[in-house]
Amino acid sequence: MVLDPPLPRPMVGRLAVIGIGLIGSSILRAADARQLAEVSVAYDAAPEVRARVAELGIADEVASSPAEAVRDADIIILCVPVGAMAAVAEAIAPHVKPGAIVSDVGSVKGAVLSALSTHLPAGVHIVPAHPVAGTEYSGPDAGFATLFKNRWCILTPPEGAEEGAVAALTALWTALGANVEIMTAEHHDLVLAITSHVPHLIAYNIVGTAADLEKVTSSEVIKYSAGGFRDFTRIAASDPTMWRDVFLNNREAVIEVLGRFTEDLIALQRAIRWEQGETLFNLFTRTRAIRRSIIEVGQETAAPDFGRERG
Ligand code: NAP
Repeated sequence: MVLDPPLPRPMVGRLAVIGIGLIGSSILRAADARQLAEVSVAYDAAPEVRARVAELGIADEVASSPAEAVRDADIIILCVPVGAMAAVAEAIAPHVKPGAIVSDVGSVKGAVLSALSTHLPAGVHIVPAHPVAGTEYSGPDAGFATLFKNRWCILTPPEGAEEGAVAALTALWTALGANVEIMTAEHHDLVLAITSHVPHLIAYNIVGTAADLEKVTSSEVIKYSAGGFRDFTRIAASDPTMWRDVFLNNREAVIEVLGRFTEDLIALQRAIRWEQGETLFNLFTRTRAIRRSIIEVGQETAAPDFGRERG
C-alpha cells in the first residue's frame, strides 16, 4: 500500500507532534512522505524516545520541552495516552500561539475535550480527533506512513468550533490518507465503546481467564491457540497504559455497553443449556454477515485466517 505523491507545497507551516509512539510517529512519517508541513517538530517525555526519533530522522526538529515544541506551531497534535492529555495541555498552554489548532488522537473524546478546554486559553482552536487505526505495537519504531490509509479519522469539534479550523484539520487527515467523519464527542464515545473498547475488554478478560484456568496448563493454551484464542491474544497484547486510560476515561459508555453484552451472553448461556440450536444458528448467521460487510467496505482482508501466511 502506498501513499499519494507529495503535495506541490506544504499545507501546514509548523506541525508539532507530542508523544512519539505508534500514532505520533506514523503521523510524522506520513507527513514527511507527502511533505505536508514546512517544518515538523517532535517532542516526547522520554529522552530515549527523543533520541530514537532523531536517529530515525522522521521529524525536522526534536524539541527538548513541550514549550519549545509548540512555539509558533500552526497545528499541534497530542499523541500521548488519554490520561496524560490534561498534563500536556497544561504544560503547553502558555506557549501556544493565538489562532493555532490544538488536536489529539486519543481513543476517548469526551474526557479529552474537557481536559483541553480546561487548560488551553481562548483564541486557540480545539479540534479533537481519533484516527480509527492502530496495531498492538507501541513506540516510535512501530509507526508506518500508511497506517491511516483508507481508515476513518473521527473529528469531534466542540459546539461553536471555527469552521476554518475544522476544515484545516480535515484537510490534514485526508492528506495523511484517512477518510474524515465528524460527530459529537459523546456519540463517538458510545460508538467506540461497542466497536473497540468492549471488544478489547473481552479479549483481555478471556486471555486472563485462560491463563488462570487450573485444569488447562499454559503450554496447552499456547499449543492449541489457533482454535480462536490466538486472535484474542493479539488484541490483548495492546498497550496496558493506553487501555487502562481508555477504560478510566470512557466509564459510562463502556458500562452501558457491557450491561447489554452481559445480558446477551446470559441469553446465549441459556440457549446452550436448553439446547436451542436454532437460536445459536440464527445469531451465528447474522454475525457472519456483519464480518462480510466489514470486508466489503475494505476495513478487513478477505484472505483466510486474516491473511496469515500458511506454513
Ligand atoms: P505509544 O506508542 O505508547 O506512544 C505514546 C508516547 O507518548 C510514548 O512514547 C510515551 O512515552 C509518550 N508520553 C506519555 N506521556 C507523555 C507526556 N506527558 N508528554 C510527552 N510524551 C508522553 O501510544 P500510541 O499507541 O501511539 O497511542 C497514543 C494515543 O493514540 C493514545 O491516546 C491512544 O488512545 C491513541 N490511539 C491509539 C491507537 C492504537 O491502536 N495504538 C489507535 C488510535 C488512537 P513513555 O512510553 O515514556 O510513557
